Amino acid sequence: MTNYSLIGLGNMGGGMAAVLAAAGHKVQAFDLSSQALARAAEAGVTPCASAVDAVAGAEVVLTMLPAGAHVREVYAQAILPHADPAALLIDCSTIDVDTARAIAREARIAGFAVADAPVSGGVAGAAAGTLTFMVGCADADFLTIKAALSPMAKTVVRAGEAGAGQAAKICNNLLLGVSMIGVCEALTLAEGLGLDPERFFEIASTSSGQCWSLTSYCPWPGPVESAPSNRNYEGGFAAAMMLKDLRLAQGAAASVGASTPLAAQAQALYALFDRLGYGERDFSGLLQLLRGRLDELA
Ligand code: NAD
Repeated sequence: MTNYSLIGLGNMGGGMAAVLAAAGHKVQAFDLSSQALARAAEAGVTPCASAVDAVAGAEVVLTMLPAGAHVREVYAQAILPHADPAALLIDCSTIDVDTARAIAREARIAGFAVADAPVSGGVAGAAAGTLTFMVGCADADFLTIKAALSPMAKTVVRAGEAGAGQAAKICNNLLLGVSMIGVCEALTLAEGLGLDPERFFEIASTSSGQCWSLTSYCPWPGPVESAPSNRNYEGGFAAAMMLKDLRLAQGAAASVGASTPLAAQAQALYALFDRLGYGERDFSGLLQLLRGRLDELA
């Protein structure tokens, strides 16, 4: 049994805390939301009155917070001054690379082993304990970090030094955000040309246009049963989350002078979709924007 502390019990952190508790670990947790704390308590997690209380005596301190500013604040006010010096500090939130590196630097100066470990797998993966963790950490710390994450994981992969986990996550989501729009455009054109989109799906799935956005997450309802397109784009990966990740990617690209023109276009389209009120829908719902059929999303 390991003593975990988990700060941030939202869609992702709530599931991760429940998975750890179900595996027999002790989990002390804190969230600003009393509802989130009450849900976690029902799942066998010990709710705490503050982040400072939640880190007391923990061997592994996890954070699963919305953005870099939240992580920075919790590290500065609760974790670095109050965690056990032997504790392993792992931030699983998706945040900007510079903040991740700054936090790692401060944690190391304070004597902690630290990692950025953003995830892929969504809310379902968090609840099932099948997340993929992309880890940025010192090579020497990786095996301990992998063991600490394994109860919640299908895969734990080391991307490189501090910040590399966040870099892997935002590069992956840049690719996903752009490829989904490509698939949506191709399906929209197929429909316009009188080619049955399901027939096009079959052909492209075994041709050079094949990609995950098409064959595992098809935005056209029908061909992929588990895809959110079959549930009117409810649930899945929110367009607002994709927009957040593309903004992180654009910020990172600007910081190193990388040229990412398609990601810039993709960001503008997801921002429009969000602005029109569909930010909570799955990102593949962008198909209906391109088809001019947002009425079908109502
Ligand atoms: P969420 O908004 O559901 O949860 C965040 C939680 O953090 C909220 O419950 C909020 O009350 C809490 N919080 C905010 N500030 C706090 C503070 N100072 N102290 C304690 N609690 C605080 O978000 P989520 O969907 O769980 O996502 C969390 C992170 O995981 C984000 O960085 C997101 O980008 C990333 N992520 C999400 C998904 C997904 O599908 N939802 C997938 C992969 C990665």
